[in-house]
Amino acid sequence: MIEMLNVSKKYPNGITAVNDLTIRIEQGEFVYVVGPSGAGKSTFIKMMYREELPTKGTIKVGDFDLVKMKNKDIPYLRRHVGVVFQDFKLLPKLTVYENIAYAMEVVEKNPKIIKKRVLEVLDLVNLKHKVKMFPNELSGGEQQRIAIARAIANMPRVLICDEPTGNLDPETSWEIMNILEEISNRGTTIIMATHNSQIVNQVRHRVLAIDNGRIVRDQQEGEYGYEA
Ligand code: ADP
Ligand code: ADP
Repeated sequence: MIEMLNVSKKYPNGITAVNDLTIRIEQGEFVYVVGPSGAGKSTFIKMMYREELPTKGTIKVGDFDLVKMKNKDIPYLRRHVGVVFQDFKLLPKLTVYENIAYAMEVVEKNPKIIKKRVLEVLDLVNLKHKVKMFPNELSGGEQQRIAIARAIANMPRVLICDEPTGNLDPETSWEIMNILEEISNRGTTIIMATHNSQIVNQVRHRVLAIDNGRIVRDQQEGEYGYEA
């Protein structure tokens, strides 16, 4: 489902963030990406949703060839690949409803389908009652739940999470993790960069440990840690 072959990313400043990396991830897998700060985790996952292009190698996500695809097709890729960030990135001037609907309006034009789907995903994250609120009226955990609802509104095959619990307290982090588990159980592939050792060690999934732009450990039901 996701395949990277001999992928390298050298930024214009000369830093090689990802170095000759080859990886295959199957549909439905839940994969943690761990490693020290500066290891290349963000660059690795940004290349999966075409936020960064590799300087060498090939990347396939489903039927998409991320290197050959045209910029104008990026919205179609993003329909299959949802993204969740550490800092939520909700639009502050839009309500909860509008934040989620906006993400769908890019690809789905039917307003009835949009409304039904927005309420469905809000139900999944247990925040239907906050539909009219603005992001700054919500707690961090609630904002992240809205960001997840937005990311899955188009029913992506892949959900990419870059430190989704990085700004949250332990209890709230577990709420987020439980939602991600539920999404995973429905068949969505999940890639999650994280520093949360408790979650990685308690909810076992495949672990990719990255250091110096390379995968130094690829372990099924793996544990947290940066070492090979
Ligand atoms: P294979 O694993 O046989 O090489 P692919 O890598 O092409 O096949 O596809 C792997 C999975 O991705 C399959 O379950 C397939 O249904 C799914 N898939 C196919 N097209 C897309 C797409 N456009 N977006 C997301 N997933 C897709
Ligand atoms: P991580 O997510 O593991 O902290 P990153 O992928 O963010 O790692 O960074 C890997 C390396 O690439 C670091 O040395 C970082 O400074 C560098 N880097 C990241 N983004 C850029 C960029 N846009 N331009 C130049 N260098 C970058």
